[in-house]
Amino acid sequence: MPKFTVTAIFTASKHLGEFEAATEQEAIDMALGSQKNYASLCHQCSDEVELDDHCAHQAVAHLSEDTIK
Ligand SMILES: [Zn+2]
Repeated sequence: MPKFTVTAIFTASKHLGEFEAATEQEAIDMALGSQKNYASLCHQCSDEVELDDHCAHQAVAHLSEDTIK
């Protein structure tokens, strides 16, 4: 029988901070363009997990609690 190598795909997220903007999309664009938009793994973690991208291309925005109050 053939043998298969199986790789699992995980979803990860990173909080990029709070951004003042007129709309969610504007906040997302600011966040994705900011220096905070990167992720890296330490040597130990990268033995187990491989990052496909070091910066994100998609993000979600929610009103921050400060705005809701
Ligand atoms: Zn680590």
